Amino acid sequence: MPDYGHPLRFGSFITPVNSPASAPVRLAVLSEQLGLDLVTFQDHPYQASFLDTWTLLSWAGAQTERVQLAGNVLNLPLRQPAVLARAAASLDLLSGGRVSVGIGAGGFWDAIEAMGGRRLTPAQAVDALDEAIDVFRGIWDAAERRSLRVDGDYYRVHGAKRGPAPAHDIPIWIGAYKPRMLRLTGRKADGWLPSLSYLQPGDLQRGNRLIDETAEAAGRDPREITRLLNISGGESADDLARLALEDGVSTFIAVGDDPDGLRHFAEEIAPAVREQVERGRGERGTQTLGRVRNSIALSKRRTGIGYDTLPASLAERAVEPGDAGYARYTSGYLRGGAPGLVLRPRTVDEVREAVAVATRHREVPLGIFSAGHGLSGRSLNDGGLVIDVGALNTVEVLDAAAGRVRVGPGARWVDVARVLAPHGLAITSGDYGGVGVGGLATAGGIGWLAREHGLTIDHLRAMDVVLADGAVVHTSEAQNPELFWAMRGAGANFGVAVSFEFTAARVGQLAFAQLVFDATDTAGFLSRWGTAIEAADRSVSGEVILGGRQGGQRYAQALLVVDSDDPDTIVERLQPIAGIAPLADHSIALTTYDQVMESMFSEAPQQAQGEPLAHSGLIRHLTPAFAADAAALLEASASYYFAIRAVGGAVSDVPAAATAYGWREANFSVVAFGARASRLDPWWERLLPHLEGMYTSFESGRGPEMLARAFPPGHLTRLRTLKRRYDPTGLFRDNFFIDPAAGDDGTADARHGEDRIAG
Ligand SMILES: Cc1cc2nc3c(=O)[nH]c(=O)nc-3n(C[C@H](O)[C@H](O)[C@H](O)COP(=O)(O)OP(=O)(O)OC[C@H]3O[C@@H](n4cnc5c(N)ncnc54)[C@H](O)[C@@H]3O)c2cc1C
Repeated sequence: MPDYGHPLRFGSFITPVNSPASAPVRLAVLSEQLGLDLVTFQDHPYQASFLDTWTLLSWAGAQTERVQLAGNVLNLPLRQPAVLARAAASLDLLSGGRVSVGIGAGGFWDAIEAMGGRRLTPAQAVDALDEAIDVFRGIWDAAERRSLRVDGDYYRVHGAKRGPAPAHDIPIWIGAYKPRMLRLTGRKADGWLPSLSYLQPGDLQRGNRLIDETAEAAGRDPREITRLLNISGGESADDLARLALEDGVSTFIAVGDDPDGLRHFAEEIAPAVREQVERGRGERGTQTLGRVRNSIALSKRRTGIGYDTLPASLAERAVEPGDAGYARYTSGYLRGGAPGLVLRPRTVDEVREAVAVATRHREVPLGIFSAGHGLSGRSLNDGGLVIDVGALNTVEVLDAAAGRVRVGPGARWVDVARVLAPHGLAITSGDYGGVGVGGLATAGGIGWLAREHGLTIDHLRAMDVVLADGAVVHTSEAQNPELFWAMRGAGANFGVAVSFEFTAARVGQLAFAQLVFDATDTAGFLSRWGTAIEAADRSVSGEVILGGRQGGQRYAQALLVVDSDDPDTIVERLQPIAGIAPLADHSIALTTYDQVMESMFSEAPQQAQGEPLAHSGLIRHLTPAFAADAAALLEASASYYFAIRAVGGAVSDVPAAATAYGWREANFSVVAFGARASRLDPWWERLLPHLEGMYTSFESGRGPEMLARAFPPGHLTRLRTLKRRYDPTGLFRDNFFIDPAAGDDGTADARHGEDRIAG
């Protein structure tokens, strides 16, 4: 060293003049057009002829698509660090991860004081910056549940809420010259950003040495710190190549107020520097580094994971516990987690690579994550691997007339509905728009049009699956039909589904009804509900939800879709249902399928912690005996959310043997969520004799007895045979694991509990 081997980057250094205000923005856009990597603006908030730099950065971010953005450098004494951290995270989210924080301790103290800032000595200013860095990183650490507390001499943050998590790890670059600042850079920063014009001969070498020594003393790898340099733009390619190869500078930021100068820098100088440095590195055998994580992130790594053995394609986008994007993986919709490594493949080939990584990590749990709504599936785990296929989220209409649609597993059902609606098409999915295609379309899919259209899997024409051995297999009735059978109901056991081809149905306007019943006579209500739903036209599907009593009464909330655009027909079909108990409230809206999905959806970050507790059962009829036991369960306050979804109708038209989802006779799917197993389970066991099988998506229990309830006996035997063929080592094990080592009767289905679960 130096050269540290960082990839070369070139940027512009633009004066934020405000007359005309468009000038710096035009230069920023030009920088992007010229292929530069970075646009930076100096920051002098006391300067009346300048635009405010933060506002300008935001505006420039909105006018550009690719180029990175940074202050060069931001004036800390006039920018409150907790607010600046939030602003940086916000702009990072809005710009798609393009923000870096270039920051300085301050100067021009008269001007700072004139603006209301506090005058500090140089030593105090460095200490203040030291504290501010803790504040920045603390605010960005959205995965940390405790509020932020920094007890500094200059900044006291007492209980600030953290977040938002930025879109990427925002690097902090320090504009440093003097030893104290250089030492701070070595201890805490991600980059050193001086200006060449302020440096004396030898300063770069001395600065690098001091930064490296301090970094090493702090247990850091000096390569964590990028070396950036503001230059005039008049330097030759030879000069810059020398600075790169001998002084470790990897990012050159040229004064960019002259468009011609900028063009020359981007089109002539930058390519020549790249070429020379590439040649020089080749001769010296210096490797160009990929992503370098800082020591804070490295300290959060979990045991048993080969972080440094990932293929480059996955390493670049992988998320670890210390990374900015990690908060996304600490909470799903219902389950918390603390995975050790999240792989985020973008292509089918990368999914294959991720599966290969998983095969080398048999000792830690493996989760397959599409949109994180799993209940039975442990798509989040504690200390294990997660393969997030969320980036495979395209929704393509292949043939609108025939309703042929191809969807990636990472799409959510609201995304599917949005794309299909303009074509007058829809695929019956679940009730909630945020649920992922990957999890639901491998299990079943009981939704708003179930009685009329069947399950979601009944509309599948084909699926592409990455198997445990890395093979990509196309499955359909014609190709690999056995696997196609298994994927429709037990898909989580067989591989990672990477593409689904559906036949969507023509769906026009429909009614969405919300009826609130007085269900204080709970048993009577449930029996009458069952009878009314079974008797209803197939265009009627939906669910009823019950919970505890309120003021002595128990209310039941029914959500129903009637697939008709004729108000008289809608009322006629709902009337018999509405008459089963006193109505406390009701509303009926003529709407569309995509609007129903939209109304059942939120983009808000998922918040769940710990493990959900839910039980699932399928039942043919809501008999008085079942209704009495269900009412007793509710009366005992064993479940805070007890829902009964309509199945039957078109779901039952499909022969039981046609798919791995095998309980086709049921007219209802029952689910009970509980807070404590000791409270829910005894009451749920009383319901079991009434039930015939279960829908896997709603069951949080695990173990061999669960498998026997999840699949009819003949189905389970067939699934065991197929598991041995397609996943003989039991790689896919997070969701109703069928142990390939177990006998056909399930003896020694021993490994079902091997995954450690968070919470
Ligand atoms: C609010 C809410 C409402 C729901 N409503 C309904 C409903 O109305 N009807 C219904 O049928 N279900 C419903 N569900 C259940 C839902 O279908 C399942 O939880 C489903 O697994 C979630 O899919 P996901 O991709 O979002 O979940 P994830 O948590 O990402 O995945 C869950 C599991 O599915 C498996 N999996 C995920 N992606 C793949 C893949 N690409 N290939 C193979 N296996 C994969 C894995 O085992 C994974 O652990 C609901 C769930 C929630 C939270």
